[in-house]
Amino acid sequence: MGKNAFITGITGQDGAYLAQFLLNKGYKVYGGYRRTSSPNFWRLEELGVFKDVELLEVDILDTGNLIRTFDRYKPEEVYNLAAQSFVAVSFEKPVLTGEITAIGVTRMLEAVRIVNPGIKFYQASSSEMFGKVQEVPQTEKTPFYPRSPYAAAKLYGHWITVNYRESFNIFGCSGILFNHESPLRGIEFVTRKISDAVARIHYGKQEFFEIGSMDAKRDWGFAKEFVEAQWMMLQQPAPEDYVVATGEAHSVREFIEHSFEYIGKKIVWKGKGPEEIGSDSKTGKPLVKVNPKFFRPAEVELLLGDFTKARTRLGWEPRVKFKELVEIMIKRDLDRLK
Ligand code: NAP
Repeated sequence: MGKNAFITGITGQDGAYLAQFLLNKGYKVYGGYRRTSSPNFWRLEELGVFKDVELLEVDILDTGNLIRTFDRYKPEEVYNLAAQSFVAVSFEKPVLTGEITAIGVTRMLEAVRIVNPGIKFYQASSSEMFGKVQEVPQTEKTPFYPRSPYAAAKLYGHWITVNYRESFNIFGCSGILFNHESPLRGIEFVTRKISDAVARIHYGKQEFFEIGSMDAKRDWGFAKEFVEAQWMMLQQPAPEDYVVATGEAHSVREFIEHSFEYIGKKIVWKGKGPEEIGSDSKTGKPLVKVNPKFFRPAEVELLLGDFTKARTRLGWEPRVKFKELVEIMIKRDLDRLK
């Protein structure tokens, strides 16, 4: 008999990949989704696992709901992927972000503590917690400096996981994951916004797109591989925290240039700051414009992870690097729009 796993945030990018991964390992997978008037199971459908996951209406804002779920379905492993995960929105909805992304973790841990303290718990922490980075590259020991309500909420989630581990002996692991993308990434996130817009431009459905800070650098990996590290953490003899990253940083500008390269266009940049425009080198048509509307009130300039601990202790290593990731995303968006 396979183990039982419960995943919050099953409708999200990582939820879908993790469900697929655990099903392939023989797990019985329960997926929690919050009630909406129109469910969004497209990612599970796209991966062909929609019918294999047992979907449960579970909201991490409701502790009783979590307790009853754990009591009834008896998960041995719980993956808390649910979050208000979009940094820009967190500046507009900081309280809601705190309720879901921060206190939601305590609700989960309380349910674990009450129902079965033996449940292994994974918390989806984020490189955004490093924010205004205190050293480069960032490791598990780098001091944190969050720069958004989202990052501050994630930092709370991280420390409460550490605290329940130390106070109540809960097997809680915090995975400090650097940006990870895929064709299943939400359309509002910068990478997917670019791959979707470039595909539209290719098919003549759109002329240009607008973007915020182009020189922000991120350590971008492939979500399908990053969820494997989440599972690996829970298979170790003792619970610990791990940085998961690729060890390479690339700018948003590079992401744009490489996406256009894939459809045979070269970008020429002119102007500075909010005036900057990227145009087609052949036709001179503007394809990318900066819009300060997309600037963050407090920007995170550079995130670069050192995943030595994950490599040596978990045996985890990224296989897909930046250029291949861009290509996977743009190719899928071209197919979708065909
Ligand atoms: P995502 O696609 O935005 O998924 C977030 C999930 O949380 C969605 O399924 C969402 O449901 C769910 N959710 C939101 N509020 C909820 C609530 N009150 N109750 C139950 N579920 C709720 O994010 P992702 O990219 O898969 O990331 C997974 C986790 O890793 C998140 O916690 C994210 O913050 C964290 N993380 C991500 C990255 C990255 O680069 N992707 C990096 C570091 C950490 P709806 O579909 O209903 O909105």
